[in-house]
Amino acid sequence: MMPAAYAVVDADALRHNLARVRQFAPASKVMAVVKANGYGHGLLRVADALREADGFAVARVQEGIALREAGFRQRIAVLQGYVDGEELAAHVAYELEPVIHSPEQIYLLEREPLPTPILPWLKLDSGMHRLGVSQEEFPICLRHLRRCPWVQQPIGLMTHLSNADLTADESTPEQVGLFRACVAHAAEYTSIANSAAIMAWPVTRADWVRPGIMLYGVSPFEGRCGEEEGLKPVMTLRSRLISVKWLRKGDRVGYAGDWVCEQDTRLGIAAIGYGDGYPRHAPSGTPVLVRGQRVGLAGRVSMDMITLDLSNCPDARVGDPVTLWGDGLPVEEIAAHAETIPYTLLCNVTQRVRILEKDAAGSAA
Ligand SMILES: *Cc1c(COP(=O)(O)O)cnc(C)c1O
Repeated sequence: MMPAAYAVVDADALRHNLARVRQFAPASKVMAVVKANGYGHGLLRVADALREADGFAVARVQEGIALREAGFRQRIAVLQGYVDGEELAAHVAYELEPVIHSPEQIYLLEREPLPTPILPWLKLDSGMHRLGVSQEEFPICLRHLRRCPWVQQPIGLMTHLSNADLTADESTPEQVGLFRACVAHAAEYTSIANSAAIMAWPVTRADWVRPGIMLYGVSPFEGRCGEEEGLKPVMTLRSRLISVKWLRKGDRVGYAGDWVCEQDTRLGIAAIGYGDGYPRHAPSGTPVLVRGQRVGLAGRVSMDMITLDLSNCPDARVGDPVTLWGDGLPVEEIAAHAETIPYTLLCNVTQRVRILEKDAAGSAA
């Protein structure tokens, strides 16, 4: 039995997008960012499709442990590192590479010898003012890490850009300049670029790149979509019509009844809603594909259902497949309608949505 709502994940598209990263940054190693359950696509499934990447990056230590327990042997950077001795010990036990972003983490590291060496990254705050040590702290932290007997050498040096998706913004050259000044005479390897930087700022490519969103086929730039960047969408979110009916001119649809039929209207009800991660704020008119045809949302998104104006698709009937985003309907477009970013739509797909691999989904996909 097919689940009512499901997300088809295309492993070939993931591999295609990884190859696209390598086209942009042929001299760099690639740390595939798979945090937040692989941007909602399923951590292990994504990591398996991307096992040719040079390493993985996760946000939290638990995500790194999950990869190790599933048998992945690649390098794994943990972008938030550790906050206490227990998390530090987990990094050691599971051979995870913590990002060190504060002097407190260095005190913890130096407190007592580790049973086996650790391979950290040191992160500079070059202007985003989220995680990272300041430019004054950076050389001191680096000196400590170079001298610590249980730190494997050389470590990695990194920073994160706040505005890389704004291609005419001055912050990126400023951040890069600050980072370059801090690492000027260092023999360590470096990493700067997220997806937007990989595509728009060649100077940021460095020894390692850290693509996230582009691996999932999504453009990081507002007003553009992945296909325009040579990327393929990885997730297609689907459901099906569970009811189709005629409404009369003047009938109101959904909670608060704020969509009113301007004429007699064929209405479809699809089994997907905000309980599946479809954005509740998507307004009437947001496009949805029914039988491959564009129709518009009519009325408010409910927890388990959405209502569709089928005027453009008069032959639609119960059981017809419905696509919310992905193949044929860029998630970027839905994000624009819902006044959010594609990252949130992908990450917010809930547990109830079954994730199917493209081939396993068969003809229904
Ligand atoms: C999430 C993240 C990335 C990947 O960002 P995208 O915009 O998805 O490419 C890279 N580096 C760090 C530090 C991150 O937190």
